Amino acid sequence: MLIRKNVGVRRVAIIGAGWAGLAAAVRAVQAGHQVTVFESSRSLGGRARAVEVTLPSGERVTLDNGQHVLLGAYRETLDLMQTVGADLTGVLTRLPVKLATLQTQHWTVFDYVSLARVLVGWCLRGFSCPQGTTVLALSQSASPRVMKDVIESLCLSALNTAPAAASGQVFLRVLKDAFLSKSYVYAGGKYASFDMLIPSVDLGSIFPSLASSWLQGKGARVRLGERVASLQALQSEFDHVVVATPPWEAARLLRDVAPDWAASVERLLYRAIATVYAQAPADFELPKPMLALPSDAEHPAQFVFARREASGLLAFVVSDAKGERETLEQRVLAQGEAKLGVALRAVSTIVEKRATLACTAPTKRPAKLVLAGLSVVGDYVDGPYPSTLEGAVRSAL
Ligand SMILES: Cc1cc2nc3c(=O)[nH]c(=O)nc-3n(C[C@H](O)[C@H](O)[C@H](O)COP(=O)(O)OP(=O)(O)OC[C@H]3O[C@@H](n4cnc5c(N)ncnc54)[C@H](O)[C@@H]3O)c2cc1C
Repeated sequence: MLIRKNVGVRRVAIIGAGWAGLAAAVRAVQAGHQVTVFESSRSLGGRARAVEVTLPSGERVTLDNGQHVLLGAYRETLDLMQTVGADLTGVLTRLPVKLATLQTQHWTVFDYVSLARVLVGWCLRGFSCPQGTTVLALSQSASPRVMKDVIESLCLSALNTAPAAASGQVFLRVLKDAFLSKSYVYAGGKYASFDMLIPSVDLGSIFPSLASSWLQGKGARVRLGERVASLQALQSEFDHVVVATPPWEAARLLRDVAPDWAASVERLLYRAIATVYAQAPADFELPKPMLALPSDAEHPAQFVFARREASGLLAFVVSDAKGERETLEQRVLAQGEAKLGVALRAVSTIVEKRATLACTAPTKRPAKLVLAGLSVVGDYVDGPYPSTLEGAVRSAL
């Protein structure tokens, strides 16, 4: 990690304490600046914040505002977690993305050959393709089972966008990093770049709350419940302002300062993600920490995760979710009961309508805006990664 040495102490205001804002704050403090973080809500972590729920037993547990998985090479995120004092041992479950994780029970030899042909083809073209190519177009030689069970699964979990619309360039970039990067080595072990990392505890406790304590321990200020209504007041008090809000709020704050940029942000499209937390009997165990599920409109969840907070607690994930909360919840519970053969009780269903950008082939993401005394970070600004934690963190470094 390259940390630029400071040319003079500056007073830096950071608007937003999501993962991008906190990453920017940590780096600014490391570079010797005086940092103040303003967060409109009472909690840290933005879209990846912790939420409290009550289980059917009456027990209160802390879960995530949507189940997350770290798919591919999340190097900067892992580095940052350790900077603020996270011990990676035991907080992330490593799940190699083997075919066993996916739905391959009904595959024939033809399917395995088709998968090998597709992967070798992508490798030979250096994991690149012309802009505008969709993941579907990249996968013409895939058999229908390879398309559904592998490509669609990976595409939805990495890009939150279905293959017919998803950007082939971004998809191949994520796969390239996943296949070709070195393993990530840390004090307690190593993660292969193609491991899926599943948080074993709520995400808030792995980074946002540690980051806040670390920042305050170094003299930075973290002000919760303080919404920044306009940039002007901050610009007179601080030498540099970092806008780390979601895109729609950044467009509002910057409409007067950078109207073209703000207009490009207002044109962005988003995709929803739904997480249905459900309680199975306490003696039920998923065979793996995460299972891919056969899915369609009637059976909308693509994945189910075992949560560690209570026995039998599950998180079903619907990427690129469509439809209303109640319908999704009912369909997912019926799907889960049929597939897993257990009774399920709804615990909490979270639908984030603007969970990520639509990572579509023609979408041009807004440029990383840097003006005198002002910069913008977040998971939506142009960069090699899709709208993810790693994308948010990288934008801020
Ligand atoms: C349900 C769900 C599932 C997801 N799954 C995954 C996954 O599996 N893997 C993955 O890598 N990513 C996943 N993501 C995406 C990931 O959570 C986001 O990409 C990331 O959290 C974005 O971080 P950010 O800091 O850019 O923005 P945000 O998290 O949106 O943070 C912006 C912050 O700014 C604050 N704010 C807004 N306006 C103001 C204001 N005027 N003044 C002060 N503060 C303000 C907000 O309250 C918020 O805290 C998922 C997202 C969701 C919602």
